[in-house]
Amino acid sequence: MPTSPANLIDLDYRAVPPRRVPGPIVDIHSHVYATGQQRYFREAADLYGITKIVSMTPLEDVPAVREAWGERIEFIAIPRWKDMSDEGDFLRRWQEDLAAFRDHGARLCKLWMAPRMRKDHGLTAEHPVLRPVIDTALDLGFDFMIHAGDPTAWFSRADKYADAGVYGTKRDQYDQVHWLADYIAPRTLIGAHMGGTVEDLDFLQSLLDQHGNYSVDSSATKWIVREVARQPRAVHAFIVRNADRVLFGSDLVVHDRFDNFDHYASRYWCHQMMWESDYDGRSPIEDPDGADPPRLAGVQLPDEVLVKLYHENASRLGYACSQCADS
Ligand SMILES: [Zn+2]
Repeated sequence: MPTSPANLIDLDYRAVPPRRVPGPIVDIHSHVYATGQQRYFREAADLYGITKIVSMTPLEDVPAVREAWGERIEFIAIPRWKDMSDEGDFLRRWQEDLAAFRDHGARLCKLWMAPRMRKDHGLTAEHPVLRPVIDTALDLGFDFMIHAGDPTAWFSRADKYADAGVYGTKRDQYDQVHWLADYIAPRTLIGAHMGGTVEDLDFLQSLLDQHGNYSVDSSATKWIVREVARQPRAVHAFIVRNADRVLFGSDLVVHDRFDNFDHYASRYWCHQMMWESDYDGRSPIEDPDGADPPRLAGVQLPDEVLVKLYHENASRLGYACSQCADS
C-alpha cells in the first residue's frame, strides 16, 4: 500500500495523545468549504478537542457551513479572489461582502498579500486602491489578518520567488505589515503563519515590539513544523516571551481535494506534539521543502502558555466559546 503523504509513519490518528491542559481550543485559521469532507474534519476536530473553528469560508458557502457547525464556527471575511480580472468590480464587491460577512458575525478581515499578489496584480496592503476596502472594514468594526511573506526557502526557488525584481525580497514583504499595523491601530492585526517569518524570530520580535496591536497565529503545518524543528529552543523562548500574542491556528483547508481523515487529523496531531510534547523524531507529513525524512521537534510549552495559545488570546479578541467561560 502506498504511504499517505499525511501519514508517513503509519500513526493511528484516532489514538489521540492525552492533552496536557484541559479546556477549549480555538483554531483561529482554517478554510472550511461546504463539502462532504467536513465529516472527516469534524471527526478530527472532535477527537483533538477543537471547540471553535474560525474559517475563511467563501461567502456563498457560509450558510451551509453555518448550518453544519452552528455556533462552533465563526467566519473571517475574504473577497472573491477568483474574480480579480475586473479590478474595479472586484474591489466594489469586496466592500459589499465585508458587510455581508459582518452580518454573519465575522470579526476579522483577511488580506492575502503573498508575493504572488505583487507580481500578478501589483498589490500590497498599502496600495491606494485597497484603501476603500480597509476603510470599510474599519468602519464595520473589523480587526485584520494578513498573510505577508511565505517560507524563506521559496525566495530562492526558481519556481517560486527567486526573481526579487518581480516578487521583492522576503524583507520587502514587510513594509506593508508596518504600514497596516499603524493604519488600523488600535485595531488588532494578526500576522498569519507566525507572521510569515518563523525563520527569523529576531525580526518577528521587532515587529511585535514596534506594534502593540500586532499578534501572530501558529498556522501552517509543514512550514511551521519544519522551522520549529530547526530551532526548537528559540521557538520555545519566543512563544513564552510573547505568550499573550500567539494564537493557535492550523491552516487546514477543508475541501474536496482532501478526502481522507488522516489529512485533517495529521495537522492537529503535529500541532499538539509540537506545542505540548518533547517528541523529537520523524514528522508524519511529507514536506518537499524540508529534510528527508521530515523532522518534528516538540517545544513543550508550559501549561499556562498553552492555555493562552489555545484559547485565552482568542477569547480576548472575542472568540469566546461556551466552554471558555468555565475554564
Ligand atoms: Zn490560510
